Amino acid sequence: MELLQIAEPGQSAAPHQHKLAVGIDLGTTNSLVATVRSGLSVVISDELGRPLLPSVVRYLQDDVPAKVGYEAKDAQALDPRNTISSVKRFMGRGLKDIAHRESMPYDFEDSAGMVRVRTVAGSKSPVEVSAEILKTLRERAEASLGGQLVGAVITVPAYFDDAQRQATKDAAKLAGLSVLRLLNEPTAAAIAYGLDNAAEGVYAVYDLGGGTFDISILNLSRGVFEVMSTGGDSALGGDDFDQRIFCWILEAAKLQPLSAEDAHVLLTCAREAKEYLTQHGVAPIRARLNSGEIVDLKLTTEVFTEITRTLVTKTIQPVKKALRDAGLTVDDVKGVVMVGGATRMPQIQRAVGEFFKQEPLNNLDPDKVVALGAAAQANLLAGNRAAGDEWLLLDVIPLSLGLETMGGLVERIIPRNSTIPVARAQEFTTFRDGQTAIAIHVVQGERELVSDCRSLARFELRGIPPMVAGAARIRVTFQVDADGLLSVSARDSTSGAEASVTVKPSYGLSDDEIANMLKDSLAHTKDDAQRRALKEAQVEAQRLIEAVRSALKNDADLLVAEQQSAIETAIAKLQAAMLGEERRDITLAMDAVEVATRDFAARRMDKSIRRAFAGKTVDEIGVISESEDNKHMGEHA
Ligand code: ADP
Ligand code: MG
Repeated sequence: MELLQIAEPGQSAAPHQHKLAVGIDLGTTNSLVATVRSGLSVVISDELGRPLLPSVVRYLQDDVPAKVGYEAKDAQALDPRNTISSVKRFMGRGLKDIAHRESMPYDFEDSAGMVRVRTVAGSKSPVEVSAEILKTLRERAEASLGGQLVGAVITVPAYFDDAQRQATKDAAKLAGLSVLRLLNEPTAAAIAYGLDNAAEGVYAVYDLGGGTFDISILNLSRGVFEVMSTGGDSALGGDDFDQRIFCWILEAAKLQPLSAEDAHVLLTCAREAKEYLTQHGVAPIRARLNSGEIVDLKLTTEVFTEITRTLVTKTIQPVKKALRDAGLTVDDVKGVVMVGGATRMPQIQRAVGEFFKQEPLNNLDPDKVVALGAAAQANLLAGNRAAGDEWLLLDVIPLSLGLETMGGLVERIIPRNSTIPVARAQEFTTFRDGQTAIAIHVVQGERELVSDCRSLARFELRGIPPMVAGAARIRVTFQVDADGLLSVSARDSTSGAEASVTVKPSYGLSDDEIANMLKDSLAHTKDDAQRRALKEAQVEAQRLIEAVRSALKNDADLLVAEQQSAIETAIAKLQAAMLGEERRDITLAMDAVEVATRDFAARRMDKSIRRAFAGKTVDEIGVISESEDNKHMGEHA
């Protein structure tokens, strides 16, 4: 990633040094590019004055460059196999993740777990298809702004996982764009409405696009947006409203089954009627079909509202769920932002207003708000900051952060996708009696074993007063600041001894490596769990052996020779079981050790009570302790 330059105080860039940066809404149905001109976000239109670019790419034979946008969309019925739409649904996805792929006209193939589409111009990955769209927008922006872009903010749905985000970044790179940041779509919309300068509180972003519905609940606190929950329906959007009108036309005009081309013509009529109805009470529907039939109908708002009522209600269910997930009710919501071309429909505006018991924010173009917010953010990140602008936006950490516990196991402290800044603490304890130092090994990754994760830092905490294993209380705190910098500190609560380290978790890790680590963890979920369980049993067994050994050393006089040898035999069996791969063998052998030492433990208890009566405290005497909840950490790294 390119480093952004920061001017010295009072030396900020002169106006003519304004850096060209854009915001891009890479949508499922439509994409847009916007920029900040004279302090205002504006969408950059094409040479025909059209702001939207349909997210459709048509591949052609013989090295003819692909067509992107309206031209491709118009050819969809003609050349469905080579005309790819809604490619956003395939980003960062494997073939088997793609729903309804049988009903799509594409020739899919699987390549190393990732989906591709065979076209006349060769096999294309979703990243390549998206790159065509991004390239078209980059060229549009550069032509309009008259220079090279320093970078772009590209928006992604809030629920996009790392693979999907990574794919988006890869597409940008391929399109010759430097990504200043990926920004969540709902956050971009909220920025477009200036909510980052508004009252703190909870905002809902209702986004009904062409084929997808997303609801996001954001919390604004001290100028920072945090995504509290997301929800929606990936198979519900404006297209479904077109489909309802289409069915109505078939019925009203009493049409026979249609050819694919005629169906396409009528679907286009249906969409035009839908869009016309947002401004008018009645829409004419006229078409001459290839079959010779003529359609001449009028669709009224009343009928349209009636035939789409169930679709409207269907969007409210996920809204309720998202609020529930965030632990909130409708009354907690300060404002509602409308996003997506389909929210222009009056019945949607009404339903959302009624549900939230307030007028939704809708005075910006709903299909532009995401791009407008992204442009504002890009302008800021490029360094064109106006005086008084102070923005801080939340990012998430891409991989979990944790530390090593006994047995080479990872204890996750901050799970991946946590929004930053974030701080989490957990208590740990010692493994051996008299242990005065612990080794803290900070790791990054999703796997259960340290050996499969990435080592970030090691440090030691010394000065722990000698105590029985498991008695010390060491509080380890992980803190990631707004710039992604991680600090880990450890503090012994008895002595107050402290140690800490600071690292940059992403340092030296490419986005590809992050994606690979995530893929690995998914592939190993099951055997990782088994390996972890085995390791845990081994650690417990080792702890038991250490405890018995230390008890034998101190109180051998309480035992007769044959009891001692029975204990030794049980320990030897346990040690043998620990070398194997069977968790059950280990637990059985541990049970046997406990049986062999039962009498011994009782005698030691008696002895310690006698000693206590003789003026000493029980605490000073190590008894074989109950296992504790705290995780144990070793002395040496
Ligand atoms: P996406 O985010 O999926 O790329 P958009 O936000 O561009 O999609 O929304 C596209 C949808 O909005 C399409 O279904 C389109 O028909 C619909 N739409 C656009 N304008 C209007 C309008 N005036 N009335 C109703 N629907 C509209
Ligand atoms: Mg959208």
